[in-house]
Amino acid sequence: YKPLTEIDPEVKNIIDKETWRQFTGLELIASENLTSQATMEANGSILTNKYSEGLPNARYYGGNEYVDELEILCRKRALEAFHLDPAKWGVNVQPYSGSTANFAALTALIQPNDRLMGLGLPDGGHLTHGYYTAKKKMTASSIYFQSFPYAITPDTNLIDYAGLSSQAKIFKPRLIICGASAYPRDWEYAELKKIAEREGAWLMADIAHTSGLIAAQELNNPFEYCDVVTTTTHKTLRGPRAGLIFFRKDLANSPDLEKRVNDAVFPACQGGPHNNTIAAIATSLKQAAQPEFKAYAKQVIANARTLAEALVSHGYKLQTNGTDNHLVLWDLRPIGLTGSKVEKVCDLMGITINKNAVSGDASAQVPGGIRLGTSALTSRDMKEEDIKIVADFLHRAVQLSLVLQKEAGSKLLKDFVRVATTPAEGKEGHLLVKQLRDE
Ligand code: PLP
Repeated sequence: YKPLTEIDPEVKNIIDKETWRQFTGLELIASENLTSQATMEANGSILTNKYSEGLPNARYYGGNEYVDELEILCRKRALEAFHLDPAKWGVNVQPYSGSTANFAALTALIQPNDRLMGLGLPDGGHLTHGYYTAKKKMTASSIYFQSFPYAITPDTNLIDYAGLSSQAKIFKPRLIICGASAYPRDWEYAELKKIAEREGAWLMADIAHTSGLIAAQELNNPFEYCDVVTTTTHKTLRGPRAGLIFFRKDLANSPDLEKRVNDAVFPACQGGPHNNTIAAIATSLKQAAQPEFKAYAKQVIANARTLAEALVSHGYKLQTNGTDNHLVLWDLRPIGLTGSKVEKVCDLMGITINKNAVSGDASAQVPGGIRLGTSALTSRDMKEEDIKIVADFLHRAVQLSLVLQKEAGSKLLKDFVRVATTPAEGKEGHLLVKQLRDE
């Protein structure tokens, strides 16, 4: 055994720098979180050495007695964390990520070229829900299936359930996907179920973003209405980077759903499971089932609401004017800024956010908003009072972006960028920031 410092100081140095960035910065990316030390320990364990294609007690390799025990434990914890009856629900814990979980779920549920409907990407949906552009079929979910997006209503920016219902009558999807990457409100699963049932379509929820909040029973429960539920494990659920697929075991017309999902994961879409990740999922699910996690999820939502209220009180416009979950979509167009400008300025300030399309954006390439999430800051134990200060920082970042935009191409801007990206010039930076503030 030799430590990483000795074997590979270059990589160790990069990890140290990233550790410093994560410790000193403010992480507001809605799809990220800070997982526990215990989860990282499991993730970095010796289990990474083992091949185990197949399922517990039915592997294509020997030596899997402990890996079998682990995968069975992980499945049990996944069902427990989401309060599911093992007689009615099963779960596959092998997907490497949310995208592969989704493609495996599509492979299990529908045939190549079958029709599916998902929330459009510009309206907050995910790439893997059938996204394509006028020029190109961008993702496997639109290359191998025919997809048609449903939308949010332009006035309220809430899901247009009536529009989806009438479009589904014409398009006749075999599968309806709900769930999103950038939708700050909760979902009406009962409404979706009615539409899916009427069309004889499967209903699948991708709860990647909100799964921690759903496990904590702080949001509507998709398991009451959906046939299949997929999730990532690294967002509000606070686990390692991976995916899960939950499937109904009690469907009279599809008693083979369990086999279809398992076969779709392996061998259709993946090879050997990443057992170190499965160990880390199991550890994080154990943590997610504790009362402390429920308190965490409540605080994530309280913090997101506080963030939304603080930004509104500064006079800014938010999509849907607020939030039900962990994320806030900030429409920057009324003040004449793009998401990418503010993202860059925030990066210079040690605040990590991401540019995001907002409803009605003319171009997805130049999104007019940013997406913020409170999962990571809440993991750092921030409460409402802290979040108000973060909102003030964001306000200052936006005001600074406006000054920089006005100064585009000027010496002031060039000096600012040079100083902001050169830590040694801190003193000069102070003067420059003072000058900007005075203006
Ligand atoms: N589904 C949704 C709703 C997501 O937001 C994401 C990622 O952001 C994914 C799936 C894909 O997850 P991964 O990046 O693990 O493939």
